[in-house]
Amino acid sequence: MQKGMRYLFDMKTSKQKLGQLGEDLIVKKMSCPKCQKTRTLKKLPNNFKCADIICDFCGFLAQVKASTVRDVNVLPETILGAAWRPQKERMDAGIYFSLFVVLVNGRNRKIYYLDKKYQRPDMFLVRKPLSPTAKRAGWQGFYYQLKSIAKRFVSDEEKTNF
Ligand SMILES: [Zn+2]
Repeated sequence: MQKGMRYLFDMKTSKQKLGQLGEDLIVKKMSCPKCQKTRTLKKLPNNFKCADIICDFCGFLAQVKASTVRDVNVLPETILGAAWRPQKERMDAGIYFSLFVVLVNGRNRKIYYLDKKYQRPDMFLVRKPLSPTAKRAGWQGFYYQLKSIAKRFVSDEEKTNF
């Protein structure tokens, strides 16, 4: 395998592993923010587009984003989202999903939660389309802009406020 390809391959797998770690932590550690039951949050299959986890008691849905950081006690200003178009279509329809953010620094992990009722269009920042030479040319993603809404996040240490 060429060196550049190997690098891309490693990046992809480590990104997937990070995503898995985030979802595993939520399922293991968190009770459902909606019905408060424990051990009811389950992972959804990867091809399930709108959400990553579901509560198998009340049907609560949430997205999970994991990010490696220097300090798990500081919420980053932005984190990488996903594809822009479906996000835009949901926003146009007034649909939002609650969001767990898992910050990881080696063995230090901290979970933050943002209820869907606090989400607004301006926290979703569209990225430039990928260049015509890219593998997924024209594909457009978005960032979550967390800075303006950081106060609305609660961490797993303040779980009672969910
Ligand atoms: Zn529930």
